[in-house]
Amino acid sequence: MSHEDCIFCKIIDQELPSAKVYEDEHVYAFLDLSQVTKGHTLVIPKTHTKDIYNTSDDVAAELFARVPKIARAIKETYKPDGINLLNNNEKAAGQAVFHYHIHILPRYGTADGFQPSWVTHEDDYTQQDLQQIAAEINKHI
Ligand code: 5GP
Ligand code: ZN
Repeated sequence: MSHEDCIFCKIIDQELPSAKVYEDEHVYAFLDLSQVTKGHTLVIPKTHTKDIYNTSDDVAAELFARVPKIARAIKETYKPDGINLLNNNEKAAGQAVFHYHIHILPRYGTADGFQPSWVTHEDDYTQQDLQQIAAEINKHI
């Protein structure tokens, strides 16, 4: 089901050009224009879905099931040192295109253009704190 004014739906429908890496009934994968690293690929569901919150179990199952084989193909092709998967949800988290997508980012050395960094806080949480947080989240599942 394509969505008016969505650039990724237009790419799936071939109304906009893309460098296609893989396609089947449920999934489309193509090179990200920005090529943060060589082979940087986006994997998207053919069903328009805005973000992780709006993605059904079925759409997610089809989508995620394709990621390992595409990652393996990138690994085989360019022999990156590693691969990161990234999925941004909502503007605050860096989402710019509101058609759900998973970035596959091959990694080459330490200065390859992608710099994930996070600050760890394990000293600030006791085991009891962690149990409480886990239980709070679990209540909403
Ligand atoms: P987000 O920030 O939403 O996670 O990522 C959106 C990504 O889509 C960006 O990395 C951007 O480079 C890519 N992008 C945006 N427009 C196009 C386009 O028309 N074609 C392709 N191939 N990639 C696009
Ligand atoms: Zn779309």
